[in-house]
Amino acid sequence: MGKTTGFMEYGRIEEGYAPPAERVRHYKEFVIGLDDAQAKTQAARCMDCGTPFCNNGCPVNNIIPDFNDLVYHQDWKSASAVLHSTNNFPEFTGRICPAPCEAACTLNINNDPVGIKSIEHAIIDRAWEHGWVLPQPAARQTGKKVAVVGSGPAGLAAAQQLARAGHAVTLFEKNDRVGGLLRYGIPDFKLDKAHIDRRVAQLVAEGVTIRTGVFVGSAEQGLGPGSKVTNWAKETVTPAQLAQDFDAVLLAGGAEASRDLPVPGRELGGIHFAMEFLPQQNKVNAGDKLKGQIRADGKHVIVIGGGDTGSDCVGTSNRHGAASVTQFELMPMPPEQENKPLVWPYWPTKLRTSSSHEEGCAREFAIATKEFTGKNGKVTGLKTVHVEFKDGKFHEIAGTEKTYPADLVLLAMGFVSPVAAVLDAFGVDKDARGNARASTDFSGGYATSVPKVFAAGDMRRGQSLVVWAIREGRQAARAVDEFLMGQSDLPR
Ligand SMILES: Cc1cc2nc3c(=O)[nH]c(=O)nc-3n(C[C@H](O)[C@H](O)[C@H](O)COP(=O)(O)OP(=O)(O)OC[C@H]3O[C@@H](n4cnc5c(N)ncnc54)[C@H](O)[C@@H]3O)c2cc1C
Ligand code: SF4
Repeated sequence: MGKTTGFMEYGRIEEGYAPPAERVRHYKEFVIGLDDAQAKTQAARCMDCGTPFCNNGCPVNNIIPDFNDLVYHQDWKSASAVLHSTNNFPEFTGRICPAPCEAACTLNINNDPVGIKSIEHAIIDRAWEHGWVLPQPAARQTGKKVAVVGSGPAGLAAAQQLARAGHAVTLFEKNDRVGGLLRYGIPDFKLDKAHIDRRVAQLVAEGVTIRTGVFVGSAEQGLGPGSKVTNWAKETVTPAQLAQDFDAVLLAGGAEASRDLPVPGRELGGIHFAMEFLPQQNKVNAGDKLKGQIRADGKHVIVIGGGDTGSDCVGTSNRHGAASVTQFELMPMPPEQENKPLVWPYWPTKLRTSSSHEEGCAREFAIATKEFTGKNGKVTGLKTVHVEFKDGKFHEIAGTEKTYPADLVLLAMGFVSPVAAVLDAFGVDKDARGNARASTDFSGGYATSVPKVFAAGDMRRGQSLVVWAIREGRQAARAVDEFLMGQSDLPR
């Protein structure tokens, strides 16, 4: 413990943001990280509790009190080693994790929690800056070959762990660049894609073979008829080919089937899934030329869905120069402050205002869209009604009908499941929600119903978080290693 009385002496220090008017003019990151003195003060607030709930609140079980102590003593290199012992990619989580660890911090019971995420961010940025993040190639090769399908955080973490265990890993990705939703989904202003490129270079130096533009599945079925899922594949590899060429296969293809809103007028032009809109901007930022990019310039934009994806659509629309941005949420407005004694150490439901909201956005809660209206085949508005949730269902409130003008509607209501055609091509059993069925048991975990085929990340657990995908990638790698070698030294 750095300073025994730190939690009584110092308040929480938040990371800074560039002013909204300035940051909406570009797509670059705008968070101003903690300097050395601020990080030391923040770390001094850690109480090094006997039972560190934060460590359990963090899905990768980061050893938080230990790195807080090291940061307090300004031993950044050791702090980086502790951080990397549980998390392959702290530069992703230090930027975009919602930080369930902080909800679980003991100090959060009657004070502001330790700024754990900002400390993680500070550690990893210094580690890269000082050249402490180096490839760790395996000392010897096992001669076993593993295919990882999907290069999101789950696939990347698994590939890295398996390569470090000495297996020959090939990572297949249908899109033209590596990273999954980190690359095509999460806006550049939240996560600069250079962070992914740097890690990919590390993976390659550790022996991972990367094959982008390769779809794994049925050549006839593809992603299923009319799929709006991103796919820039130039080549298809079938599950049968993988079974023949590899000793094990890990499915980490994410949960890419977006939830739709099948109300009258849905067929009108100008209504798009968030995941049609956001990846296009990522591509343009990467220097690609796109024909007919979906743009929000001068438009009245309605984003349907009050979560993170919706918030990313708000931030991107404002950067395009939208005339107005309004975000709809079906659920009622949550309380501004959670009832801490009731919910601690769990993740509380409370009103969350993102940096994108601060840049300009009207928010409507408890609102349902009944119909899209249009002219000449293009959307011009939405007919809505306010609703209340009672007896397990939503009821319309009479007299609250309203029409909102809209030139662009973005559907950000989450994801229903992985793409069924991909799981069907492998023939793996699905659970009730359409995810790949595989347990997370200590023994035999992550194995699907098909021999030597494993599944992890959103493809197994459904739509989730980057930190959960990293956890599942790490744990699945251990399960695959055990399957191949009879035992594993990889951490669980
Ligand atoms: C817009 C948006 C914003 C988000 N923001 C956050 C955030 O701020 N913080 C956070 O923690 N989480 C966030 N999430 C959630 C997070 O991104 C996901 O939970 C996480 O990326 C899941 O990782 P994954 O590796 O399981 O799958 P994904 O990241 O979805 O990667 C799967 C990859 O597999 C590839 N693939 C799929 N099928 C095939 C196939 N048949 N052949 C070859 N390749 C295939 C896909 O192209 C994709 O690249 C966000 C999600 C979205 C959509
Ligand atoms: S990965 Fe997320 S939950 Fe874990 S310590 Fe970092 S911010 Fe907290």
